[in-house]
Amino acid sequence: MDYSGKIKTLAKLIQGSSRTFALTGAGISTESGIPDFRSPGTGLWQKTDPMKVATVTVLRRDPAAFYKANLERWSVFTEAEPNAAHYALAALEREGLLEGVISQNIDGLHVKAGSERVWEVHGHLRTCHCMKCNGRQPFSNLLEQFKSGINPPLCICGGVLRPDVVLFEDPMGEDFFHASQALNGCQLLVVVGSSLRVYPVAHLPERAARLVIVNRDATPWDDRAALVINDSAGKVFTDLMTELKQSSDV
Ligand code: NAD
Repeated sequence: MDYSGKIKTLAKLIQGSSRTFALTGAGISTESGIPDFRSPGTGLWQKTDPMKVATVTVLRRDPAAFYKANLERWSVFTEAEPNAAHYALAALEREGLLEGVISQNIDGLHVKAGSERVWEVHGHLRTCHCMKCNGRQPFSNLLEQFKSGINPPLCICGGVLRPDVVLFEDPMGEDFFHASQALNGCQLLVVVGSSLRVYPVAHLPERAARLVIVNRDATPWDDRAALVINDSAGKVFTDLMTELKQSSDV
């Protein structure tokens, strides 16, 4: 099937499904200027191994080293803006064609784009909390301290602050369990920009009756998908919105 046939098929699958969810990964945000982990040539894993720097062990043993290794990268996430794919998912939700977005991303771009039902299963960078008193505060407090040379950033009680993200070695947060429950009876799951190699999220496609994958590179789930589109998310979702508009105008 050619590209335009795939866009038409995707539009029909979405229009014909009464319970559709999106599952997004780092690839949906590369067009917002945030590198992913595994894209050949540009993925972060080609430079550093996040499993060596973004872990609970490093944070506890040497919080200053943890922040030195991660905060510059995360500050880029907080400044990024949503792209056409994030906006399209928010529009699909408003139009009643999408129930919500399950995202592995911590960049908060679905929320910024206006999506309302978003499960951020690896957390987000809007807030942080103190590892001593558990008090929660805006992530910007942590970032500002680091930028002004205070490393590690501290709570007023003297405890070390940590971002509300799921680090390697952390258990999954509540959003993951809520997202799994929400998927009961899911007719269509549209995966966008994920290598589907990070567990337990990579098990979620099992919960959907039908699967569509929009991803530049191959994933282990491709054989089981009703439709695979190996192209950029921004382009696919721009074309999808045009197709949906044209087919509803007819
Ligand atoms: P991944 O890096 O393992 O895979 C990203 C996939 O997206 C790749 O297969 C690549 O082919 C594809 N891709 C890249 N740009 C694309 C585009 N414009 N359009 C379509 N596809 C594109 O990402 P993952 O599966 O999300 O797993 C990595 C983990 O890293 C996640 O747990 C996530 O929490 C974390 N992460 C998050 C961010 C973020 O918040 N933006 C960034 C880097 C990593």
